[in-house]
Amino acid sequence: MKAYQITQWGEMLKENEVPIPKPTGTEVLIKIRASGICHSDIHIWDGYFDLGSGKRITLQERGLKLPFTMGHEPVGEVVALGPEATGVGIGDRRIVYPWIGCGVCKVCENGDELLCNEPITVGTRRDGGYAEYLLAPHAKYLVSYDGVDEAWAATAACSGITAYSALKKLKHLKSDQTVLIIGAGGVGLAAVGMAKAVLKSRIIVADVDPLKREAALKAGADEVVDNGEPGIIKELLKQTDGGPYGVVDFVGAPATCSFGFQVLAKGGTLVVVGLYGGSMDLSLSMLPLKVVNIVGSYVGTQQDLVELLDLVKQGHVTPVPIIKRQLSEAPIAIQDLRSGKDIGRYVLINY
Ligand SMILES: [Zn+2]
Ligand SMILES: [Zn+2]
Repeated sequence: MKAYQITQWGEMLKENEVPIPKPTGTEVLIKIRASGICHSDIHIWDGYFDLGSGKRITLQERGLKLPFTMGHEPVGEVVALGPEATGVGIGDRRIVYPWIGCGVCKVCENGDELLCNEPITVGTRRDGGYAEYLLAPHAKYLVSYDGVDEAWAATAACSGITAYSALKKLKHLKSDQTVLIIGAGGVGLAAVGMAKAVLKSRIIVADVDPLKREAALKAGADEVVDNGEPGIIKELLKQTDGGPYGVVDFVGAPATCSFGFQVLAKGGTLVVVGLYGGSMDLSLSMLPLKVVNIVGSYVGTQQDLVELLDLVKQGHVTPVPIIKRQLSEAPIAIQDLRSGKDIGRYVLINY
């Protein structure tokens, strides 16, 4: 089969001919039909995450060996089963939930596989969906997407649940408490499209790019602002009568996070999602004085995925625009994503 692999960190992905994996034990072989390209794939491709102040965590240190096939948003058809695999049949179409834990530690036993310290994530630890076939470790990680657009389904397992679980962290807010979403790129825009289905709040979206602000309005934002504009913090505080009670930063850069913290209302919650990286100065006394929560949100649980698919089936979600490319175009598509010129999510199609 063809796999589009990292062979050197940061260098163009290579089309390699590799054997089709054979399922053993509980494993399930999936023929890929669609596979989303995520912004975090760019960091994996580069081989490191920026921790700020010149510090990095490299994928090599985390044990990732090359060549490696990325792709943690895979959907496809079951084509072969290991001898102990049950719960799915040949021809079933499924999303592969990628955020898999080791399955044996205390954290995993408690059902928090997402928080496992030894994860075996599909597409970031084990080979993922930038290939014609993929091996899922167990049928319990396969989620049906019947009744949902297939290309959109390929954005659900990362972009979709990342947006959904971040918004869920603000579910305690009331209808007269505003939420500010920073960044209307792929994940941010997905969040805007489902915000009204998850929250009762008024939704303001901040982005420095006028095209992304326009896309946010189309996706259902009540209002948009340019966070690069001088005086915007004062204006936003006035407009929201003391600041938004919830801020979700889908960029996660020093400038956006600092902006989010400054506009946050007393008693508010800042949710940091984006992995742009870096670090920021934080006035510690402002934490107690403003009585704020700062929380991190990372992807989402398999239950989040099931809930989100239900909301989509009920028609409550404005789907994020999808940019379709053929699987064979993976090396170019990820370069295009890096250039940041398109609006929406890239999905590789293999049918
Ligand atoms: Zn992702
Ligand atoms: Zn574990």
